Amino acid sequence: ASEAAGPVFAAHARCDLDAAKVLVADPSRVAMVQCAPAVRVTLAEEFGLAPGSLTPGKLAAGLRRLGFAVVYDTTFAADVTVMEESAELLARIAEGGRLPLFTSCCPAWVRHVETAWPELTPHLSSCKSPQQMAGALFKSYAASLDGFDPAAVASVSVMPCTAKKHEAARPELRSGPAALADVDAVVTVTELAAWLKEAGIDFAALPGEPFDAPLGRYSGAGVIFGATGGVMEAALRTAVALCGEGRETAGPESGIVFTPAGPGVARAEFELAGNKLAAVTVSGLANVGPLLEAVAAGTADFQFMEVMCCPGGCVAGGGTPKLLPGVDVAAAVAARRQALGNHDRALPVRAAHANPAVTELYAAFLERPLSHRSHELLHTVYGGAAKGGHD
Ligand code: SF4
Repeated sequence: ASEAAGPVFAAHARCDLDAAKVLVADPSRVAMVQCAPAVRVTLAEEFGLAPGSLTPGKLAAGLRRLGFAVVYDTTFAADVTVMEESAELLARIAEGGRLPLFTSCCPAWVRHVETAWPELTPHLSSCKSPQQMAGALFKSYAASLDGFDPAAVASVSVMPCTAKKHEAARPELRSGPAALADVDAVVTVTELAAWLKEAGIDFAALPGEPFDAPLGRYSGAGVIFGATGGVMEAALRTAVALCGEGRETAGPESGIVFTPAGPGVARAEFELAGNKLAAVTVSGLANVGPLLEAVAAGTADFQFMEVMCCPGGCVAGGGTPKLLPGVDVAAAVAARRQALGNHDRALPVRAAHANPAVTELYAAFLERPLSHRSHELLHTVYGGAAKGGHD
């Protein structure tokens, strides 16, 4: 939408803009913010730039101008999600755990499994989504690094997704001895654009600034979470490396090629830890039905499945700018995806396990993926089986 057209919010979604403004203005709180990978390739459209304009530096600068004390990045937490989820996949394979493993970073997908296929909830990864992992780390690791009281941290996220607001309110997604909410307010891309305009910030003219360290340091693996297939590729980059397969010859990508296997579905077959495996990615909730029927019937011939409810992934999320009449939506979403791919390829570190900030997080705080502390902060039980049920 152009600036003159004003913000267009999803009509059914709660707006958290006022709540976020109150948190930022409260002198007793330390306002920490994170922004999802897709935000950096969608926000600029609200300011008249072309779909797919990549603006991470302006995004960080704009959030600082709005008053956030610490500007972190969900993309760092996406790298942490890769570490935890790839370890979970390898553990389930080694220990005969429930397979196929379903990704759990899309809250609308998680909710679909819980409500329409409750018997399949054990297939969901126990990993919290990157948004929730980042929030849990804000109020533990990040707070301790800077000497803040965890309860004083105000955790705000900027998301391409309206479902993330409901995810943040789930009782299972609280952490620490005081069961603090991981995320206190979720602002969509269109809401952030409205806030910037209201504050008189000329987004297009902002200089590029870095995100704050260490939770603002990210790899290309975290970046591609924003598009369909990206979570899978990011996890496989690390799983392949951790298994030592092809380590000598491997490039920055997993080398595992997915090919179309039906509407919105892609599939690959490969070997991992001596096991012949198959994985599928699903773009668009409407396309997952036959695969879930196969899982329920015990006939699924794959071990790992990524599902993103929005066709194309988060770059097409309900909180992203609405495209103007006459704009080719498919081409615009493709441009956003392409921009994330270009960003991944241009980064010096492209795998989560090679991100020095992630390595330091494990060395200094978490110890290792799936550790006791990781389970306390970064994992949950979906389906209402623990921690008081779901919303
Ligand atoms: Fe949200 Fe859509 Fe991304 Fe799922 S795919 S997390 S519903 S934006």
